[in-house]
Amino acid sequence: MKILVLNCGSSSLKYQLININDESVLAKGVVERIGIEDAFLEHQLTGEEIVIKAEIPDHNVAIEMVIDVLLKKEYAVLQSMDEINAVGHRVVHGGEKFASSTLITDEVIKQIEEVSDLAPLHNPHNLSGIKVCAELMPGTPQVAVFDTAFHQTMPRKAYMYALPYQYYQNYGIRRYGFHGTSHKYVAQRAAVMLGRPIDELKIITCHLGNGASIAAVKNGQSIDTSMGLTPLEGLVMGTRCGDIDPAIIPFLMDKEELTIQEIDNIINKQSGLYGVSGISNDSRDIDSAAGKGNEKAQTALEIFDYRVAKYIGAYMVAMGGVDAIVFTAGIGENQSSTRKVILEYLSFLNIELDQAANQVRKQEIDITTPDSKIKVLVIPTNEELMIARDTKEVIRR
Ligand code: ADP
Repeated sequence: MKILVLNCGSSSLKYQLININDESVLAKGVVERIGIEDAFLEHQLTGEEIVIKAEIPDHNVAIEMVIDVLLKKEYAVLQSMDEINAVGHRVVHGGEKFASSTLITDEVIKQIEEVSDLAPLHNPHNLSGIKVCAELMPGTPQVAVFDTAFHQTMPRKAYMYALPYQYYQNYGIRRYGFHGTSHKYVAQRAAVMLGRPIDELKIITCHLGNGASIAAVKNGQSIDTSMGLTPLEGLVMGTRCGDIDPAIIPFLMDKEELTIQEIDNIINKQSGLYGVSGISNDSRDIDSAAGKGNEKAQTALEIFDYRVAKYIGAYMVAMGGVDAIVFTAGIGENQSSTRKVILEYLSFLNIELDQAANQVRKQEIDITTPDSKIKVLVIPTNEELMIARDTKEVIRR
C-alpha cells in the first residue's frame, strides 16, 4: 500500500511517498517558494536529488508538480496515479473537534475551516492541499492528521487558562498543544527501546527544533504540554519568545507605539534565540558565537537550556515521576552540548550521562549509563511515517 504524505505550509510543501507495507520511503521532497519568484521543487530518490525550477503560483500547481515527478518514467516511482492508495495530510489545528486522525469528508473540511481562526497561518494552507488532492484524485481516500490531536487527552487543569471562563466558552481559548504527531511517535519508540508497555510508563518528550515543545506522556497519553492556544507558549524557540509575563505586551505596545501586528511579529519572529543573541535563529550559529565568547549568544543558550530543564522538573511533578526523557528534532537530536547542560540540571536525580553515547548521531540511542534509573533517549522523530501509519489505520476502519 502506497501513501502520499503532504505537509502544506504557506509557501512550501513537503511530501513523502511511503510504502506502508514495509514502511520504506519511495521518494520525498519539498516544493519551496510557492507564490514567490524563484520557486522550485527538490525531489529526492535514493541517492539522487533532482531540482526542477518553475513558476509555482499556488498549491494547485505545486501538487500537480509533485504528482508529475512521481509519475516520471525515468525515476520509476509510480506507473500510474491510481497506485497512490491514500493521502495523509498534516493539519496543524484540530481544535477540540478532533482527538484523533480522521477520514476527510465535506463535513470534516467544514469543521477544519471552523477552527481555522485558531491557526490562521497554517490551517488554510493545509486545507488548500486537501482541496487540490480531492480534485486531482477524486476516488482516493484522504486523511487528516492533526498536530493537536495527541494532546486532547490533557485534563482540564492542564488545558484551562485562568482567564474569565466565557473566553473559553466563546472562543475556545485553552491550551491545545502542538507537535503531537512527533511527541506520540517518539513516546511509542521510547517504550519499544525500554522494552516495556507504553501504558505503564512516564515519559517526558522534548521536541527541540526551530519550534520547540515538551510533553508529559503518562501511560501513553499526553497529560500536559508546553505549547498553548498557539505554538508561541512554553520553551524558547528559534524566533519565538515562549513564556513571558503577559503584561509585557501592553507595556511594550505603549512604550514603542506598536500595533497588534507589530507586537505579534516581535514575539513570534523577532524573539527567541534570534532575538536574544541578535545573531541567528539557528542554534549552530549561536553555539559557535557562544564558543567564541559572545555574551548575548551565551545568554540565549542559557535561557533555552534552563527553560527546558525547568519544564522537565514540572512534568515530573505532573506525572509523579519519570521513567525516560526523550530528546528529538533538530536541536534535540544533534546538539549534544544542549543535552549535556540540560541533564546537568537534573544530576541530583542520579541521571548519569554516557559521554560517548551522547556523541552518537542519527540513530536511536540511550545516552545514560546502565546504572541510571531514569533513562535519557535520543530518538530521531519521523512525523511523516506517523502520518502514513495513521492514514493506513483510518482507511482500514
Ligand atoms: P523545524 O522542523 O522546527 O523547522 P528542525 O527540527 O529542523 O526545525 O530544527 C532546527 C534546529 O535544529 C536549528 O536550530 C538547527 O540549528 C538545529 N540543527 C539542525 N541540524 C543540526 C545539526 N546537524 N547539528 C546541530 N544542530 C542542528
